[in-house]
Amino acid sequence: MNNKTQLAVIGGGPGGYAAAFLAADLGMQVTLIDPEKNPGGVCLYRGCIPSKALLHIAKLINEAGEASRWGIEFEKPKINLDKLRTFKENVVGKLTGGLGVLSKQRKITYIQGRATLLNATSMRIEKMEGGTEELTFDHAIISTGSLPAQIPSLMLNSPRVIDSTGALALTDIPKNMLVVGGGYIGLELGSVYVALGTEVSIVEMTSGLVPGADRDLVNILAKSLAPKMKSIMTGTKVVKMEEFADGIKVTFEGEDIREKEQVFEKVLVSIGRVPNAKGFGIENTKAEVDQRGFIKVNSQMQTAEPTIYAIGDVVGNPMLAHKASAEGKVAVENIAGHNVEFKPAAIPAVMFTDPEVAWCGLTENEAREKNIEIKVARFPWAASGRAVTLDRSDGVTKLIMDPKTERILGMAVAGPGAGELIAEGVLAVEMAAVAKDIALSIHPHPTLSETVMESAEIFFGQSTHLYRPKRDK
Ligand code: FAD
Repeated sequence: MNNKTQLAVIGGGPGGYAAAFLAADLGMQVTLIDPEKNPGGVCLYRGCIPSKALLHIAKLINEAGEASRWGIEFEKPKINLDKLRTFKENVVGKLTGGLGVLSKQRKITYIQGRATLLNATSMRIEKMEGGTEELTFDHAIISTGSLPAQIPSLMLNSPRVIDSTGALALTDIPKNMLVVGGGYIGLELGSVYVALGTEVSIVEMTSGLVPGADRDLVNILAKSLAPKMKSIMTGTKVVKMEEFADGIKVTFEGEDIREKEQVFEKVLVSIGRVPNAKGFGIENTKAEVDQRGFIKVNSQMQTAEPTIYAIGDVVGNPMLAHKASAEGKVAVENIAGHNVEFKPAAIPAVMFTDPEVAWCGLTENEAREKNIEIKVARFPWAASGRAVTLDRSDGVTKLIMDPKTERILGMAVAGPGAGELIAEGVLAVEMAAVAKDIALSIHPHPTLSETVMESAEIFFGQSTHLYRPKRDK
């Protein structure tokens, strides 16, 4: 059967479904293709959502453990793994089912299948229920996402060696586990397993956790993780993995490594993600792929093939759901004939660890690399009433500003709830707010959001709860 659609969207992740929904809202006839029963992609089925459901449980377990400090003793939690897995699966089912309904309400043709581009205006779809269908389109958006990166020379075909999808499947709670890679996914999933009772070790090749993030934030996180993890080995490389009856023997290489060989019941490999730009016929079009495997697009998200756009993880970093959705909307606006560019001033990044770490806009690292003159105002949470009521004074909020114009260029937070707080920074950066705007905006008391206001006050040497007079007064 040969069908025709105005817009075909390949991939139903947060990039693809956000694009399809906006296109339908703008009156386009849309076909959305994805192998799953409902839209959702990696984010909903095996990424953001299941990991955050499990991190919520981890938080509960951790807080129950800490409560003895406040005079409340809970017994050691008993974990019913089947029920926990069902909770996580219900969360995923509820949200993906909801996207299915939203898709129907918008009269989007949803095809459960796998698409292969045949040329600039047609594709073949292998349907999951069996059979194939050809579809011609005026425009297509590629939103095929990314896949876990692997180390081919090390990978073992063993159920003991898992990736993030395997970790989220929650098949068992191993006695001990090695997390290879100290990025946000490894740290989040490692934290879940620690809370469930696994002895977790982390190995990271570079000299510190979360390469790229500002060190003052990472140091707060590393200090909190250190007593919870069995070990955190930075500047250390995994050079060999062998399977034995009782586990995986891992050989490490690094200057400070105490035990060169260790055996782990499970190894979670989480060394990043690679774009999923192969195997669906992109070579049958003029669209190009760069050296790192990302599909090349212009600022309107258009590939070198004028009818085809690409968005999300498959076009570049940061590989984050909200970036994918925002790019999807830009692609659709352009297809609809509106002249729109993807040029955000701030894309927030959040690590849902304990404490959470979040940043947006310019970071101190980036300012240093690009030689941009900045002024940094840091408000330590020890001076925040709300943080003290939570017994969490280990956090920090910082604003990065232009010293001359006083414009907010970036914001970063380490502390519980950082992922929610960072939205204020995104708005400030996007609206070109200056330090005075934040300092004069009345923030509710007692909340952690006051730390943003007080950071701005620090810029003027006038923070109410921290005596730090301005040096050049
Ligand atoms: P994806 O969500 O990867 O969706 C791509 C879809 O395309 C998939 O469903 C795939 O099956 C489908 N597809 C591929 N090829 C074809 C084809 N030929 N035909 C049809 N369909 C096809 N991001 C955040 O912002 N916050 C988080 O907290 C967060 N946590 C994460 C935790 C984990 C464990 C992981 C793995 C990722 C996490 N991410 C998080 C990243 C986030 O999931 C991705 O950035 C996001 O899903 C990218 O969206 P996308 O639309 O580009 O692609």
